[in-house]
Amino acid sequence: MTELLIRRFLGDDRDRTSDARVRERYGILSGCVGLFCNFLLFAAKLIIGFATGAISVAADAVNNLSDGLSSFISIVGFKLTGRAPDEQHPFGYGRTEYIAGLIVSLIICVVGVQFLQTSFTRILHPEPVAFSVVSAVVLLLTMLVKLWMGSFNRTVGTRIDSPTLLAAMQDSINDVVTTGVVLIGMVAGQFTTLPVDGVVGVLVALFIIWAGIGIARDTLSPLIGQAADPEIAQAIADTVLQSPGILGIHDLIVHNYGVGKSLASLHAEVPDTADIVAVHELIDEAERAVWEQTGVYTVIHMDPVRVGDPRIDAMRETTLNVLAKIDPELTMHDFRVVEGERRINLIFDVVAPFGYSEEKKEDLKTRIQIGLKARDKRYCPVITMEHKMTL
Ligand SMILES: [Zn+2]
Ligand SMILES: [Zn+2]
Repeated sequence: MTELLIRRFLGDDRDRTSDARVRERYGILSGCVGLFCNFLLFAAKLIIGFATGAISVAADAVNNLSDGLSSFISIVGFKLTGRAPDEQHPFGYGRTEYIAGLIVSLIICVVGVQFLQTSFTRILHPEPVAFSVVSAVVLLLTMLVKLWMGSFNRTVGTRIDSPTLLAAMQDSINDVVTTGVVLIGMVAGQFTTLPVDGVVGVLVALFIIWAGIGIARDTLSPLIGQAADPEIAQAIADTVLQSPGILGIHDLIVHNYGVGKSLASLHAEVPDTADIVAVHELIDEAERAVWEQTGVYTVIHMDPVRVGDPRIDAMRETTLNVLAKIDPELTMHDFRVVEGERRINLIFDVVAPFGYSEEKKEDLKTRIQIGLKARDKRYCPVITMEHKMTL
């Protein structure tokens, strides 16, 4: 079934999974499957919910509806990512997906809270559930549909190596368990006067709210601005460092404008003896290489560093030792030396891990100063403190 769908939807392109357009079509296919199946499940469970009067089944129906809406957002996202930028929105429309996701997550949370209230009322004032074999069989069938959806997402997710789809697979498995609990509750309710329906309803409602919060978190984070994906950061660093004239990089920042749309900036360390025109050419080539390898548009800033000067190298080594003694997590870059008669200015940037308060940063500066003075009285550190931008 899965193979058949893939073949019908993607035809001969189905094996070119590294092509962005093919991946987009895989994404849209799985979005459509999710949308169609979840609305089917929603309708079936809603009818059973009304027929039996079970709040737990109605809540489970809404749970599937929220999954359907998520699929809808992902289709919208895949479509919008392809929409061309215009004068007012030169970065394109990729972030609309996050806004749509945020709105849907709010709706899901509100619905979840309403079901929580109703289910609590059912615990206090239980109402009879009209159990029938037909409704039990239909619930069983919906579990099979979800199971197939899970396997579908796993197949496509592994094929295009998409964490989103693999997460969708996990969600499908959770849904199978949820419906299983609802079904068991419905059967158990026939043999006891305990308010099983209300209790299961509360559980499902909590599950809905939890799913809503999950979607909100996934969409808020990129809207607020998050640390660069370590994989992308590594790929950019590796590509830039392949250039023969670039000795090192630091201060990599990645701005995200929707899935697959990122801008980045970084500082490249180049020998201070190099010819500016030649280095600029190298930098341009590195920018182009990053674009071709990762699809990230990058601007590179040049930092000249002194190489092959044993005195400077020794001072850098000393400074690194002092930093490592204070906190092994500290890193340093843009190390420069300005020498005078009685003082040697050591100018550098220190990247502190998060969790360093302003006070602690000041304290850190003092400790670095004391550490360096102990090595050589003439050392005067000029320190700029930064915080990490990548994970
Ligand atoms: Zn720099
Ligand atoms: Zn240029």
